[in-house]
Amino acid sequence: MYPKLIIDMKKLESNIDACAKIAKDDGGCSLMIVTKSLCADRTVCEMIAKHPKVDFLADSRVMNIKKYADLLAPNGKQSVLLRLPMMDEIEDLVKYVDISQNSEMVTIRAIAEEAKKQGKVHKIILMVDLGDLREGMFYQNEESIIEAAAEIEAMDGVELLGMGTNLTCYGAIIPKNDNLSVLCDIAGKVEEKIGRKLELISGGNSSSIYLIWKGDMPEKISNLRLGESFLLGNDTAYGETVPGTVHDAMLIEAQIIELKEKPSLPIGEVGKDAFGQVPVYEDRGVIKRAILGIGKQDTDIDGMIPLDDRIDILGGSSDHMILDLTKCGEDYKIGDTVKFKLEYGALLKAATSEYVEKEYV
Ligand SMILES: *Cc1c(COP(=O)(O)O)cnc(C)c1O
Repeated sequence: MYPKLIIDMKKLESNIDACAKIAKDDGGCSLMIVTKSLCADRTVCEMIAKHPKVDFLADSRVMNIKKYADLLAPNGKQSVLLRLPMMDEIEDLVKYVDISQNSEMVTIRAIAEEAKKQGKVHKIILMVDLGDLREGMFYQNEESIIEAAAEIEAMDGVELLGMGTNLTCYGAIIPKNDNLSVLCDIAGKVEEKIGRKLELISGGNSSSIYLIWKGDMPEKISNLRLGESFLLGNDTAYGETVPGTVHDAMLIEAQIIELKEKPSLPIGEVGKDAFGQVPVYEDRGVIKRAILGIGKQDTDIDGMIPLDDRIDILGGSSDHMILDLTKCGEDYKIGDTVKFKLEYGALLKAATSEYVEKEYV
């Protein structure tokens, strides 16, 4: 069945090997592998859970972690909730998740109460916002961060595992030695205050890994949380390839349902398309147009790269995608399929859509 997300398990596994070599062997960091972009796909999560170099499986949703909670302890792994917990999910958080990232004392106090009720100790990573302006206690309020850490340290039911930051998600701020060093400084002051070393200083996501091969990662950073870098081989700071990874561990395949010569310019008065946009067209004369049975309800058609580089993507709507196959001669016919490499947004949507079949190879 098409459209299909083709997941190459060997390539994914060797992408994790490559990320682990950099993050762990070269960078001395522990490794969180992020499962959210594949909606915690069971087959992939089994492979991750069994991977000897992975220390933690991390996801933004409790529901996803709940699905693979049974795979963790038998494989010596712990789970991490990346998104700050909602007050309404604290019972499940404590039940199914080992560690969570937090920035609100109200939430942390509620977690501690719930953990005591369940007879557990939940681990906290206190998040610091270094200027990307998504989650975290703002770095300029250093005193309140240190105070918060000391309060967590004194609480029953929770344990302060470490501190962390997240960059390049909202504000597109790039992790550098200077901003990550601010986190390390604050963590140092917290350690002084609580009188012990923190187990983990988490230096970010796939946009931070490049600092290791550039030799620019602050010494004190001891953990990375990697999603896109092992899934798609992308360093998300500058768009380089993470050394040793491939970009085609996951592909989308869709089938041609119409193939005709037609003009490249629509005929008639131009209004708005199905998504309320006024489209812009390029006049290429008469071209060979193919329609694929895939659309915006399945994936992000702007984030797809045809494996056959003679193909141009012209656009699409909810359930259709339109290609220019003029340069392909007679190589395609109705019923043939076209494969695409994916950008992050396209992968996320395809993995989430129930219309997209998954095939493991
Ligand atoms: C999604 C997410 C990650 C992983 O990001 P990638 O760019 O895919 O590596 C790490 N940390 C947090 C807090 C996240 O939300």
